[in-house]
Amino acid sequence: MSDKLVRTRYAPSPTGFMHVGNLRTALYEYLVAKSQGGKFILRIEDTDRERLVAGAVDFIYNTLRLAGLQHDEGPDIGGGFGPYVQSERKDMYLPYAEQLIREGKAYRCFCSKERLEKLQSETVGGGYDRHCRDLPQEEIDKNLADGVPYVIRQKMPVEGSTTFSDAVFGDITVENSELQDQILIKTDGYPTYNFANVIDDHTMGITHVVRGSEYLSSTPKYNLLYEAFGWEIPTYIHLPLIMGKDADGNVSKLSKRHGATGFYDLIDDGYLPQAIINYIALLGWCPKDNQEIFTLAELEKAFAIDGISKSPSVFDYDKLTWFNGEYIKAMTPEAFTEVAMPYYKEVFGDREMPWDKLAEILQKRVTKLTQIPDILDFFAALPEYDKSLFVNKKSKTNLDNAPVVLREAYERLKALPVWDNPSIHDCLIGMAKEKELKNGTVMWPVRIAAAGKTVTPGGAVEILDILGREEALQRLALGLEKLG
Ligand code: GLU
Repeated sequence: MSDKLVRTRYAPSPTGFMHVGNLRTALYEYLVAKSQGGKFILRIEDTDRERLVAGAVDFIYNTLRLAGLQHDEGPDIGGGFGPYVQSERKDMYLPYAEQLIREGKAYRCFCSKERLEKLQSETVGGGYDRHCRDLPQEEIDKNLADGVPYVIRQKMPVEGSTTFSDAVFGDITVENSELQDQILIKTDGYPTYNFANVIDDHTMGITHVVRGSEYLSSTPKYNLLYEAFGWEIPTYIHLPLIMGKDADGNVSKLSKRHGATGFYDLIDDGYLPQAIINYIALLGWCPKDNQEIFTLAELEKAFAIDGISKSPSVFDYDKLTWFNGEYIKAMTPEAFTEVAMPYYKEVFGDREMPWDKLAEILQKRVTKLTQIPDILDFFAALPEYDKSLFVNKKSKTNLDNAPVVLREAYERLKALPVWDNPSIHDCLIGMAKEKELKNGTVMWPVRIAAAGKTVTPGGAVEILDILGREEALQRLALGLEKLG
């Protein structure tokens, strides 16, 4: 490999929304380039017109932006190798195919659709019989003069084998007899997907082709095209499959039944883009040390092609959730409040709350943003609860001492001149000390009365503070009533 500038491309076909596999390809393309000081290019492969999905291109842009994968060249920002959309390059391909015809490496195939269909039904595997490969020149000329439609096919070698080297999967050899004379140009004069892909990669100066391992079997065909043109072959980097865990403990190709697989679906499930990216970076790549949490900038430094594994990686939602929790903990309270706000609104509507205090108690506990409404619901409205919740062995609370302790706490809190966290804290701790009670014996009944549930983010002090004096005292009074 020469030491020219590394150029990679993410070449999505806008045929749907970006899922975890697409995102990983984009990320690895980006990292292969950035880890070597290279350029990351975005090319839209819209050759298959029938498969296009409206809006898919916008999804690609938005996903890359949200993921922080800024391309250096692309349809929206240009660059010296444009256009970056295949449909805008459509006139570029035919001359290359004609060059191969002149060099005797490709030929016009005039076979009719009917003939090909008949052939397909008759031969096992449906291969093309290379009928037009060596047509006499007069016949070719006559067909052209008669305007018989044709495709252009590559003359594949009929003997021997083709070997190509993949940076991840190693050397792969296929028997040439297994390869068809592939179509390069269709009857309408436009390229097939495979042909356009190779011409684009070469003319855009792509040095590293990163893509899913489903393309491994097409790579000999790509390779033979590079050879036919005498072009330098790029470094192929095929990525391992991504699997999901099945209910029975086995794994199978990741799909919707394993959980959300679209980038936006994962975000809707409460995951942060950065956490998703960090986790996806490790789906098939292993750092030299055991570091797990990486910013994108750190990934750009640490990433190395030889750390990519060929064995399938398993998408583990629990592990992703762990990453997400770590990212949530590390956020500033302001950043957390911003991402939590849509979920806060579900609970509080337009009500203003002490957001910084909520962040303080939530960031430690929340591993997915979608958990927020359930965790917080008691702040908006005291749930119906049974007085049996007051009973707790560990804090030595029972239905006899709970009303006494709660009454005392209520009176003391009511008398507080200032309602804030330190005052509430000192008041309750002071009471425990004076009365020679365990702190828990005071805190438990207060927290139950304030929240109406046993599991809450934050303790009694934080909850009372956030509720505010009036609401807090009302709830404690209600607890006393319940206790009789
Ligand atoms: N357009 C192809 C896809 O979306 C990319 C193939 C390649 O990277 O060579 O899967």
